[in-house]
Amino acid sequence: MNKEDLIYIIGHKSPDTDTVCSAIAYAEYLNQKGFNVISAITGEINLETKYVLDYFKFETPVILDSLSQKNVILVDHNEESQRLDGFESANIIEVIDHHKINFTSSEPINFQVKPLGSTASLIAERMFNDKNFEISKPLAGILISAILSDTVVFKSNTTTPRDIEIAETLNKIAQIEDLQTFGIEIKKKKASLKGLNPEKIIYSDFKTFEACGNKFGVGQIEVVDLSEAKEMKKDLLEKMNEIAKRENLLFVILMMTDIINEGSELLISDNCDCIEKAFNKKVNDNCVYLDKMMSRKKDLLPVVMKILEA
Ligand code: MN
Ligand code: MN
Repeated sequence: MNKEDLIYIIGHKSPDTDTVCSAIAYAEYLNQKGFNVISAITGEINLETKYVLDYFKFETPVILDSLSQKNVILVDHNEESQRLDGFESANIIEVIDHHKINFTSSEPINFQVKPLGSTASLIAERMFNDKNFEISKPLAGILISAILSDTVVFKSNTTTPRDIEIAETLNKIAQIEDLQTFGIEIKKKKASLKGLNPEKIIYSDFKTFEACGNKFGVGQIEVVDLSEAKEMKKDLLEKMNEIAKRENLLFVILMMTDIINEGSELLISDNCDCIEKAFNKKVNDNCVYLDKMMSRKKDLLPVVMKILEA
């Protein structure tokens, strides 16, 4: 591959702030190194990400509908179900991620996975380690936003001391007055369900997983108040059952995470008894509240996987 060859940097489906900002930031970094790189997304950005990009004056990346025949760097995911179509015939050059490893390649590639709270933390570390790169104020701003978003303002179990340290170092450049306040503010942008239909709510951050041949889906929304979501419960459930059938999933879970009270109300489609077993808590009317449950990746998935694999 030549230095002029075009490279796309792209994150997972249902793009979130970490996926989008990591792609933009890493593209800017590599462009400055003389590579021909553009950031891309798999679909429409959410309201939180839109707010962040507007705030720091970045353009929304281009939407790709296939990776086929393209040179690609994957950020914020290495899992098949979260990739865009055309992966088989794409030239994957590099992966930077903070999720569990689920990847094979036919040739050696640059591959970095670290258990940090966001991919943006990994991108920031790279920039810190490069004496020839100066992080601009807006760039520091979107990296901080991505860290705050993925760690739910440092409240999620996925937060490490290193993430906080990185955000604070970046903030010497970004000069955001108060990271907590700013974090809650950006989270709130996505937190209102007003005007959204059940399908949009469920798919706003939806991932599918597989354990022992059983595929299931987990959506997550973050709210500042659970009442709005609870009012829509019946319609959400109906849609979740429909999605389970349509996508051939054993079950669908919607994590409604209350970022203020730090817990999640789980809405669970029919035919799922694994949650009751997994968390040893009674599920009433397809619903259960789990205190301190903030992270799909760290708090929910390992427990559900374990039950399914048992
Ligand atoms: Mn993500
Ligand atoms: Mn992430």
